Amino acid sequence: MRKAKIVCTIGPASESLDVLSRLIEQGMDAARLNFSHGTHDSHRRAIRSIREAAASRQAAVAIIQDVQGPRIRVDEVGEKGLDVAPGQSVRLQTALARSGGQLAAASGAPAGGQIDIPVSYPHLARDVRPGGRILIDDGLIELTVTRIAGGAVECLVVTGGRITSHKGINLPGTNVSAPTLTDKDREDIRFGVAAGVDYVALSFVRGPEDIAAAKQLVAACGRDVPIIAKIERVEAVNALPAILDAADGVMIARGDLGVEMGAEAVPVLQKRIIVEANHRRRLVITATQMLESMTQRASPTRAEASDVANAVFDGTDAVMLSAETAIGRYPVETVRVMDRIVRAAEEGIAASASRRRDADGDARSCSEAICTAASTAASAITASAIVAFSELGSTARLISKQRPVAPIIAFTPFEPIRQRMALYWGVTPHCMHQIAQTDERVHEAERRLKAEGIVKPGERIVILSGTRIGQPGGTNLMKLHEVP
Ligand code: ATP
Ligand code: MG
Ligand code: MG
Repeated sequence: MRKAKIVCTIGPASESLDVLSRLIEQGMDAARLNFSHGTHDSHRRAIRSIREAAASRQAAVAIIQDVQGPRIRVDEVGEKGLDVAPGQSVRLQTALARSGGQLAAASGAPAGGQIDIPVSYPHLARDVRPGGRILIDDGLIELTVTRIAGGAVECLVVTGGRITSHKGINLPGTNVSAPTLTDKDREDIRFGVAAGVDYVALSFVRGPEDIAAAKQLVAACGRDVPIIAKIERVEAVNALPAILDAADGVMIARGDLGVEMGAEAVPVLQKRIIVEANHRRRLVITATQMLESMTQRASPTRAEASDVANAVFDGTDAVMLSAETAIGRYPVETVRVMDRIVRAAEEGIAASASRRRDADGDARSCSEAICTAASTAASAITASAIVAFSELGSTARLISKQRPVAPIIAFTPFEPIRQRMALYWGVTPHCMHQIAQTDERVHEAERRLKAEGIVKPGERIVILSGTRIGQPGGTNLMKLHEVP
């Protein structure tokens, strides 16, 4: 059984009943509908087909509605697009500035050689500052703002290229004043909730209040639909703990995240987001370009296989396909490949866990288990010490290898063992004579810890002990204890 789940973006390449059935057969667990594209009609048809395909295979398939958010886009620039070259100056024109176009021209902008780029976001000129960066088409084209004039934004081209209609625009480091939930998003969410989607994913989330607004809207629609926050802005990364508290899950939207923060930041953030999401028991989906080359080719690059596997190693709940299944040439093959990579990664994890168990040997596996539990318990109750009765030092070494935060106080009856334990990470070794009775042993240890000022009354400690004296590897008892 595969454990990490597979999310497929459904689009022209995959919305037919036949392809949907085959995607489910190959392992699709959730279907994502991107409301940046398509129409309510096309999404309604897709939802119906996904449900039908799932029912005929008795499969449970979740439908995730992904809403566009305050995505800034290039407006219509014609069939051919606009070519811009480094060093050239261009002017971004918002609808607002265009309607008062005279104003911009009158303000003294150079007329000859000036390229105007129409932009969908009316408040662009209000939000950006001279010196700020503007990125177009996933960061392929870069501009620097030189001047704000009459509602238009004048820029210098840093990296050139061809600008075509509807390409995305990012303003890294700029506070975009548009609300996270746009009017279109609200309308789309009402549609989605009524159509029975299982999750709603919000784009360009900035903070927990965005999730609260979406929850309110969903509740007003009379249903309880979990909300997934797409992490793709600096603000969201900074507010991650609060977002995790407010949302039911997060998506690591690596495309825009990479544009906003630099590609090199993505792998590090991916690990951090997965760890924090798991820590707070929230869902986490790793998304974007996982098997991108399979949009055109029937097999993945080794780097892509590694990427999918590493997301599994990082502990993601789900991996996601975007263009690969939405508009790719090989949607079904891509899911099959992803399923295989995830399974292989999970077998690898299981095999290394069992190798670790084998290396420890049968005799010690019980001690190992109890030391793992002790370390977990110590951090859960913020214990001020872990006390290990360790005749030959092996229990002390095992608990040390767990790298607990609490100091480890080890007691042995033998001076050579006390000396040996001096090298163990985090262990403070002591000698104590043999006491057969567990309660008395604990009492004596407690007396000495108090005397040395290591623990104070009211603090909690974790105690590891054995019931059979004189038997190495006999640690079979853990006690959580409050110092009286
Ligand atoms: P996002 O930033 O939300 O990921 P995106 O534009 O990158 O938006 P994806 O959902 O990642 O879109 O899909 C990748 C590509 O697949 C899109 O650029 C688009 O061309 C295409 N696509 C996705 N869904 C549809 C659809 N319903 N209809 C047509 N094309 C679609
Ligand atoms: Mg995105
Ligand atoms: Mg995308």
